[in-house]
Amino acid sequence: MADVSFGTARMLTGKCLCGAVEYRVADRFEYAMNCHCSNCRRATGSAFKPFAGVKRGELSLVRGEGARLIYGDEGEAHDVHCASCGSLLYSVVREGAYAHVTLGTLVDAPAIRPSAHIFVGSKAEWFQITDDLPQYECFPDDCGGAARSDDHDDLAELLVRLQEAMRLDDLIERKGPGDHRPERTVR
Ligand SMILES: [Zn+2]
Ligand SMILES: [Zn+2]
Repeated sequence: MADVSFGTARMLTGKCLCGAVEYRVADRFEYAMNCHCSNCRRATGSAFKPFAGVKRGELSLVRGEGARLIYGDEGEAHDVHCASCGSLLYSVVREGAYAHVTLGTLVDAPAIRPSAHIFVGSKAEWFQITDDLPQYECFPDDCGGAARSDDHDDLAELLVRLQEAMRLDDLIERKGPGDHRPERTVR
């Protein structure tokens, strides 16, 4: 087991494909989503990016500090890849206060599960969402009534939780690495 105890939170390990970069993160994720935006699709080469947000201080590198490839502004929003194998490990977002960890690089399973699909307006045409999670054209707060969920009780609860966990306005206005962005302009 790679888990070790630190305070009351489990510590999870994550690493890149080649193993040069390894991180530890407390299992204190505040939100998790599947992002279908064009940036996340391209950064991962996938239909969407499952990620979870945690305070930046909860994540630390175990090794590979010099093996990182930083895409974006190192002082603000940026993506952290392995320079050797290219894995996208996490993004530093929200003025450096949060890390969006790519769930696919975790070795250990987190307690949280993705609770929504976001930026489904940018979803790859060849991919079909087959689960019942709520879907949003962008971030829930920005879309108002554009959400596609049929279950309004769950939706309302999700919105409250997301608004508590995230300052969504900050997220949707920024552009560049570490951010989420629709493929096309939302009308
Ligand atoms: Zn690597
Ligand atoms: Zn995204």
